[in-house]
Amino acid sequence: MNTPIVELKSVGKSFRSADGTARSVLEGVDFSLKEGEIVALLGQSGSGKSTMLRIMAGLIAADHGQVLYRGLPLYGPAQAISMVFQSFALFPWLTVQKNIELGLEAKGMPPEDRVQRVAAAIELIGLSGFEGALPRELSGGMRQRVGIARALVLEPEVLLMDEAFSALDVLTGERLREEILELWQTKQLPTKAILVVSHNIEEAVMMADRVLIFASDPGRVRDELPVTLSRPREVESSEVRGLIDNVYGLMTAGAMRPGRVSEKEVKLQLGDRLPEADIARMDGILEMLADDPFQGRADLPELAEKTELTDQELLSVSRALTLMGFAHLDHGDIIMNPLGAKYVQANVPERQEIFGRQLLENVPLVAYIHHGLKQDPSGDLHEDLFLRLLRFTLNEDDARSALRIAIEWGRYGDLFEYNYTTGIIQMARKEEVAAE
Ligand code: ADP
Ligand code: MG
Repeated sequence: MNTPIVELKSVGKSFRSADGTARSVLEGVDFSLKEGEIVALLGQSGSGKSTMLRIMAGLIAADHGQVLYRGLPLYGPAQAISMVFQSFALFPWLTVQKNIELGLEAKGMPPEDRVQRVAAAIELIGLSGFEGALPRELSGGMRQRVGIARALVLEPEVLLMDEAFSALDVLTGERLREEILELWQTKQLPTKAILVVSHNIEEAVMMADRVLIFASDPGRVRDELPVTLSRPREVESSEVRGLIDNVYGLMTAGAMRPGRVSEKEVKLQLGDRLPEADIARMDGILEMLADDPFQGRADLPELAEKTELTDQELLSVSRALTLMGFAHLDHGDIIMNPLGAKYVQANVPERQEIFGRQLLENVPLVAYIHHGLKQDPSGDLHEDLFLRLLRFTLNEDDARSALRIAIEWGRYGDLFEYNYTTGIIQMARKEEVAAE
């Protein structure tokens, strides 16, 4: 334990978007994965977790900083590091056996050795009897077993699992996770360290010796929580529940509370991403919060369970509600503000009015669009105008998503209308009348 295997030192990475502007995805990432540990990495989607993993595996180069493998700079794909991806990425025309064997073949291992190694991996990961099956004949869980076997057959020193369980249904994901832990615990894996990227807080706490929390824009390690519980861990135990609470607290704290993070994250800027939260979901959470048993204050893990939202979804809604001034967060609890309570009690037109007012005050992108429409004599503007603006700070997908959310919210807040076929954003009719 404690000998670093892979180290990232002040690692930075930018990507160029379609229009040629660079966007910083990772900045000042310091991290080392040590012998004998499992580390979990949590963070919003788009925060650069997969990029960090690809850099660790030597699949892409960092722009700044250093990547060391066993103390030596890493220049290309690291032979001793294997990745497991969320999408199974199996070759559909190859059997299970062949899919697993591929990496060994690429390494130039003679066929007779390959067969043995593949057989061992198949046995280990519970695929016996499926050697001749094609991927399409398998369930999602079995396909992911193939994905894992394909990584394990290379006997990697380091295993990087990028949301490896998140495409599976809950039970299958849990079972596979437990099996991996069992193999790890009983030292049946040659692997010396595992890094799991997850968007499931419970999974992170159940698996890891430390949980790292990643910040967005640019991505970097913001917090770290050691998990010293012995394994196997009991998911319902008070220790595990307490740690889950702590992680929720850390995840919401960094995103919301001043002092810990830059002002930028606290007060939204024009070119920032917007949390992926639709109105119905915000309304639903507020209504639930107002009601029994919560009475205005809820523990986020409890709320996640009640709503059946994923952690990521719930955190997005929480961020949106905080942004709008309807609620605030405190140590992993969400607490309704008086304005939130007023909103819940209001009828629909009143809700829309409150929402619109809060948008203009707190969401610069919506305020900017609204302002633009007021300035323009025709009262309508094409969405491309705003997309072009957003592309200065966001990549294409994020720019589109931010604009889509701003438009959805703005429409509900009765600030403007939007024509899905033409992409034209228009002043809401109500305002035209008022302006005359
Ligand atoms: P995460 O895994 O945390 O969801 P990613 O590392 O996949 O985040 O992506 C971080 C950001 O970098 C995203 O905005 C993504 O669109 C962008 N990005 C990732 N890979 C590329 C690439 N090859 N070219 C341009 N942008 C990229
Ligand atoms: Mg990812």
